[in-house]
Amino acid sequence: MQTIGSIHEMQSSAIAMRSSGHLIALVPTMGCLHEGHGKLIDIAREKADKVIVSIFVNPAQFGPNEDFEKYPRVLSDDLEFCRERGVDFVFNPKVEALYPEDFSTFVEEEKLSAGLCGISRPNYFRGVATICLKLFNITRPDIGIFGQKDAQQLALIRKMVNDLNLPLEIIAGPTHRDSDGLATSSRNHYLSDSQREDALRISRALETARELVTAGVRQVDRVIAEVTHELSQSRRVRVIYVQVVDRDSMESPREIIPGRHLLTVAVWVEDTRLIDNIEL
Ligand code: AMP
Repeated sequence: MQTIGSIHEMQSSAIAMRSSGHLIALVPTMGCLHEGHGKLIDIAREKADKVIVSIFVNPAQFGPNEDFEKYPRVLSDDLEFCRERGVDFVFNPKVEALYPEDFSTFVEEEKLSAGLCGISRPNYFRGVATICLKLFNITRPDIGIFGQKDAQQLALIRKMVNDLNLPLEIIAGPTHRDSDGLATSSRNHYLSDSQREDALRISRALETARELVTAGVRQVDRVIAEVTHELSQSRRVRVIYVQVVDRDSMESPREIIPGRHLLTVAVWVEDTRLIDNIEL
């Protein structure tokens, strides 16, 4: 496995791999790798000849009062994780390399990034779209692998690829959960044991939503009300949003269509922001 910090070196290696006919898959991450990332790497290995994992905590997607500074950074563990998982390249650039002082070009998607997390995190999706386009240009992947856990991000990337005619395919990996149901996330490291207990309400509430739909409920308001009620049982959980959305457009439907719509949730568990979703 090769670890590369230089943009130029990564780009040249990617171009050389492409010209030797290798299919490249990119798994973009912010590090502090867990089994959710691991499963995306497994998909990448299955689909491509060469796997690149980028590890970069992207300042452009954090708001001024968010956790950019304290976001967990554990590079040597991450490198070990990638090596064991059969990754070919880790791309780990410095902030100054990707965002030099005079940086002034951003990518903005205007529809599906407006709602949900776009409301409570105003520049978040602009930062995500910008870094992903930069990473695509540097690593030249044929395939980009993203997690369903960040459903709005996945929809945004698919939309950007389509709108800007980017020459790669986006593949989604299912949400990986710990055995207790909590979706694995680098931010779970912030949770104490008791906060983790509270966070388990999220996956339970998502299951409730799915059970309602399986039992024949199609009213959006009814499902949202039940999920909100379940989340609100804990004093330490504050709901940011609970929404039913179309998986591609992120628009709210009038009525739930199983297999097409997602129930998506964002909450604060004290000062940790967690998101999750389930296909209804
Ligand atoms: P992050 O490092 O949190 O920015 O995530 C990097 C990629 O891993 C994104 O495509 C996420 O959607 C994906 N990811 C994060 N957590 C999970 C999970 N529990 N299951 C599947 N994919 C995940």
